[in-house]
Amino acid sequence: MSANFSFECLACCSQTKARAGVFFTPHGVVETPRFMPVGTLANVKTITPAQLRDTGAQMILSNTYHLHLQPGEAIVAGGGGLHKFMGWNGPMLTDSGGFQVFSLSEMRKITEEGVTFRSPHDGRIINLTPERSIEIQNTLGADVIMAFDECPPYPATRQEVETATERTYRWLERCITAHQRSEQALFGIVQGGVYLDLRCRAAETLAKLDLPGYAIGGVSVGEPPELMAEIVKVTAPLLPPEKPRYLMGVGTYREMAIAIASGIDLFDCVIPTRWARHGTAIVQGGRWNLKNAKFREDFTPLDETCPCYTCQNFSRAYVSHLVRSQEILAYTLLSIHNITELIRFTQKIREAILSDRFTTEFGHWLNEESGDEEWRIEE
Ligand SMILES: [Zn+2]
Repeated sequence: MSANFSFECLACCSQTKARAGVFFTPHGVVETPRFMPVGTLANVKTITPAQLRDTGAQMILSNTYHLHLQPGEAIVAGGGGLHKFMGWNGPMLTDSGGFQVFSLSEMRKITEEGVTFRSPHDGRIINLTPERSIEIQNTLGADVIMAFDECPPYPATRQEVETATERTYRWLERCITAHQRSEQALFGIVQGGVYLDLRCRAAETLAKLDLPGYAIGGVSVGEPPELMAEIVKVTAPLLPPEKPRYLMGVGTYREMAIAIASGIDLFDCVIPTRWARHGTAIVQGGRWNLKNAKFREDFTPLDETCPCYTCQNFSRAYVSHLVRSQEILAYTLLSIHNITELIRFTQKIREAILSDRFTTEFGHWLNEESGDEEWRIEE
């Protein structure tokens, strides 16, 4: 691993493959397992970096696809790089843009060279290749950067997924060659759709490359939850134990608990901020619509056990009033609470693993019938 990065496993669960560790980066440590908030356009929507820090956030994400389109990586570099530009001094990760190109853009064309698509902002034709994605991410300057991959949709035929998975590997080799900055860690991404043998082959091949970290991508794209659990269960243990493992785009309680039991360390998801903007609070694993009449005169906090700024200072009635009035502060207060809630869930799991109480305290998330359907999102 690069001298700037290391991963130390502090404790392993005696019943599952869950582990608690520390990921060291040039901008600080990430205590794992850990949920990472998403700051798509170099900001976590509606909250300031100081508020974000108070939620317990350590590593956060930004999206290469969105930043390349707006404002463009040259402007971010002109502002001193992503950390300085957005005022976040902690660990940061950028994705490769691959997922957004495949899920959001229209008129895309995939060749061995890369992907061509039309900008949704101004209609110009953009060519994204492995080399270009790495160049953009080198310019943005996050601590962790991701390989440019082809994320096949669900459902897709075995042949389509096999072609995409093999191309993803060739693209990874090109990403490694193109990567220019040793103070950034390049993570490889395991694809393979819902075909477990393709997933295993990809994981074993990637593991030989001795990258500073590994991700499992192409999940949470519409496949049934039990299939995702199976993919993670067979794939994660094939990745090198001395490197961090990141499950991309996943962030419900149940999905995280199940993935942690398979040995995953890092998660990201837009759920907490997106739901905040819809007036929805995440409370103890449930989903509350603050427009509901029962909150109008409820003067207790959202969650009495939550240490966040919102719960320490405001009532359900107040937040409900702000949501009904469409005040911007509603989205800020709910984002602060929802992010705190998901980070706290992974923190509590971490503490349980450290004292080998993971299955005792969180076993119900692993065993019960899935109740997560209402958590699932499209992006
Ligand atoms: Zn709270």
